[in-house]
Amino acid sequence: MLKVGIVGISGRMGHALFECCQGLDGVKVVCGIDRNTDSLPAGCSCEVVDAPAKLGVIPDLFIDFTRPECSLEGLAFAVKHKVRYVLGTTGFDEAGKEEIAKAARDIPVVFASNFSVGVNVILSLIEKTAAVMTDADIEIVEAHHRYKVDAPSGTALSMGEAAARGRNVRLQDVMVAGRNGVTGERQYGTIGFSSIRGGDIVGMHNAMFCCDGERVEIAHHASSRATFARGAIRAALWLADKKEGLYTMSEVLGLN
Ligand code: NAD
Repeated sequence: MLKVGIVGISGRMGHALFECCQGLDGVKVVCGIDRNTDSLPAGCSCEVVDAPAKLGVIPDLFIDFTRPECSLEGLAFAVKHKVRYVLGTTGFDEAGKEEIAKAARDIPVVFASNFSVGVNVILSLIEKTAAVMTDADIEIVEAHHRYKVDAPSGTALSMGEAAARGRNVRLQDVMVAGRNGVTGERQYGTIGFSSIRGGDIVGMHNAMFCCDGERVEIAHHASSRATFARGAIRAALWLADKKEGLYTMSEVLGLN
């Protein structure tokens, strides 16, 4: 039995994870962490505290979809107690990403900006398309619900990184985000990002390869958070026999 702790158990993903775990043999939610204990998932009777240091029950593994500062606190606790970690939070800065890599020297961590199987499949298609369609202007469009706090989305950035890998460049050298006003003509080789926020959109991503005379679009539409929750639990089960290290969802799915 895999004993799971959900970090962010009162959030949208926390609810989806809790519900997904209910129907599974071999997985049990034994504790949760959230600063908001008023909106727990229906049927949740496990221990829930507002900070990891207050936990009485130590799980085998944490699944965390929260905010960067919360996840870094959770990771530090997990390193101290040798707890495996599945991390879905987005919006980390470079220092935060270094902290994650440092924690993964001591514990096994799966870190992915998107846990849906479909998105991970299209990341490899995007890399190949970028490498072959060398004259295409690459534009990445994403749309999410009104509550999302970071932009471009972590998934859009992963798509940009996949395209940049295909072109043998570094994303930070070619990225253009949030055009506004007189921007001048498009520079060849740049990768553009556009973000839409509104309503209850779970997640839409479209990588557009625009050439003279044709356009290829590689798109993914998420219609339910259950897809991310299922992927995160798949990663949690995969991690059971892994040693310390930083793993990707591509590795979990055997796409590499
Ligand atoms: P949410 O706001 O609904 O939930 C976040 C929860 O974390 C809230 O309940 C909040 O109270 C809790 N929290 C935040 N900071 C805390 C702290 N310091 N201490 C204790 N609790 C804290 O958000 P959400 O829609 O569930 O998304 C959470 C994160 O997951 C975001 O970064 C989002 O981009 C990311 N996300 C990733 C994927 C993926 O596949 N990787 C999919 C969906 C969402």
